[in-house]
Amino acid sequence: MFRTHTCGELRASHQSQSVTLAGWVQTVRKFGSITFVDLRDRYGITQLLFNESLNTELEKTPLGREFVLQVAGEVAERSNKNLQLPTGDIEILVQSFTILNASATPPFTIQDDTDGGDDLRMKYRYLDLRRTAVRKNLELRYAVNRAARNYLHQQEFLDIETPFLIKSTPEGARDFVVPSRMNPGQFYALPQSPQTFKQLLMVSGYDRYYQIVKCFRDEDLRADRQPEFTQIDCEMAFVEQEDILQMFEGLIKSIFKEVKGIEYTESVQRMTWEEAMWTYGNDKPDIRFGMQLLNLKKPESVYRDRTDARALIDGADFKVFDEAESVIALAVPGAAEYTRKQTDELTDWVKRPQIGMKGLVFIKCLADGTFKSSVDKFYSEERLKSIASACGAQPGDLILIVAGPEERTRKAASELRLEMGERLGLRKKDEFKLLWVLDFPLFEYDEDGNRWVARHHPFTAPKPLQIATMIENEPSITDASKYLDHPYAQIKANAYDMVLNGNEIGGGSIRIYQRELQEKMFAALGMDKEEQQHKFGFLLGAFEYGAPPHGGIAFGFDRLCSILGGSESIRDFIAFPKNNAGRDVMLDAPATIDDKQFDELQIRLDLKS
Ligand code: ASP
Repeated sequence: MFRTHTCGELRASHQSQSVTLAGWVQTVRKFGSITFVDLRDRYGITQLLFNESLNTELEKTPLGREFVLQVAGEVAERSNKNLQLPTGDIEILVQSFTILNASATPPFTIQDDTDGGDDLRMKYRYLDLRRTAVRKNLELRYAVNRAARNYLHQQEFLDIETPFLIKSTPEGARDFVVPSRMNPGQFYALPQSPQTFKQLLMVSGYDRYYQIVKCFRDEDLRADRQPEFTQIDCEMAFVEQEDILQMFEGLIKSIFKEVKGIEYTESVQRMTWEEAMWTYGNDKPDIRFGMQLLNLKKPESVYRDRTDARALIDGADFKVFDEAESVIALAVPGAAEYTRKQTDELTDWVKRPQIGMKGLVFIKCLADGTFKSSVDKFYSEERLKSIASACGAQPGDLILIVAGPEERTRKAASELRLEMGERLGLRKKDEFKLLWVLDFPLFEYDEDGNRWVARHHPFTAPKPLQIATMIENEPSITDASKYLDHPYAQIKANAYDMVLNGNEIGGGSIRIYQRELQEKMFAALGMDKEEQQHKFGFLLGAFEYGAPPHGGIAFGFDRLCSILGGSESIRDFIAFPKNNAGRDVMLDAPATIDDKQFDELQIRLDLKS
């Protein structure tokens, strides 16, 4: 037998037992004529003691870090116990040992706070994976996977595999393509998601489907994206939005419970997309903290007491506000004490190119009920008081106001809110707040192409009451600046996103299941009949054979794991991730292929640049 126990298993109760262990050498410490070795495997670390007689042998064949070692010996109680280690009460008095394999000196230390940089660890990922921190992440990933499967299995979902070599499924990214040898000059696309297949499975009568599945999207990789990533992909037939929300709230709650031991008993808060945009400045609000935004320029932005917020700043002759398209305020709790230095630093922060504001207005709501602000010249104490009350500010709070063009100001206010939340320690890693965002617009207008694009994807149904608006109106836009007046701009999607601590962890929709409506959707997106037939003839055809009403959702599995694991990066939760340039630096992929392979594919390489 290679080993009788693992390196994490032995306790004082095993004292005097003869055992055999196998693992990697973590450290070697020599003390005179005896040597201590820490032996590591997936389960833990056990201390080995080599006595004098074995030391001579060790001198002949010295042990180095990461050597693979097998030892036989006796479990003994340690005089000098290590309370940090579960095995810290014992050590093994080694009687014999075998070096199963030697190791080159590893390029970085295999421990929690390693000295290896990112690139080096990616190159030697198989060594990085030996580190406890990385191993724990993969263990958590497996726990999430198991919890999801358990729940979905209990709910009668079937795990059905769908193919990878397919034709494009549009999710808004570029496809990865694979040349076909047997069909020279033709290419498969790798799925951006199994979207059309899961819908076909509904047509086939498999009314509860799921898959924990790889998706492939060739997009520019912002800091934390991967070209291949994993979704918990689900679809149900004979459902309305409410059924889906209930079912998948249940899924996430049961993952919380099984993986983190957290009973998430309250029902998940819901918010319309519009409300999210108005009060948080983005469509995935972090609701672990308040600090809601108040747009002082918009009649729509009725707030708390439901008065028109515009009256609060109008008519003061303050050009910055008067001329701005958007003026957005937020109240930062307890920050009225900020010094000049601190407010200057915040002003610099909003002026950074990524944020792009020209400046920042402050109103300090002092503890004695008075106000001090950078706009005292323009606004009386009375008006400052009204602004403060509209913002929900308390004595002791600091109101921050940004002003400028609509879109940029909204984004800046949203970023500022998150930054202040971070600085005040309100975005706690161990607090989890779920949110459903509902009623997204069905279409978005793409100015460059002067056309409508699907905000979610082209298979998403409009809200039932708005189907008629879609059928009755043509998508054409004559004056691009007036697209908001087009009836399509008002159509809401029967779609939903699940947000966790400010991250979109899942999204889905109720689907179109009638051919006529699907054709209208494709047409609205600029596809003529021929293109529709060429790209999605199979789906349109399937809709003619008794397609049931259906809908679904997909969760970003890697992201979910990283949030549950308290990490910013999804890479840490993927065994073999790619870097920001989409490269696997360990394999050195992508790479060129042999001439023979080109010949077989009947492809000649002629790069344009
Ligand atoms: N296929 C969609 C996505 O990948 C999810 C869904 O609509 O179910 O985002």
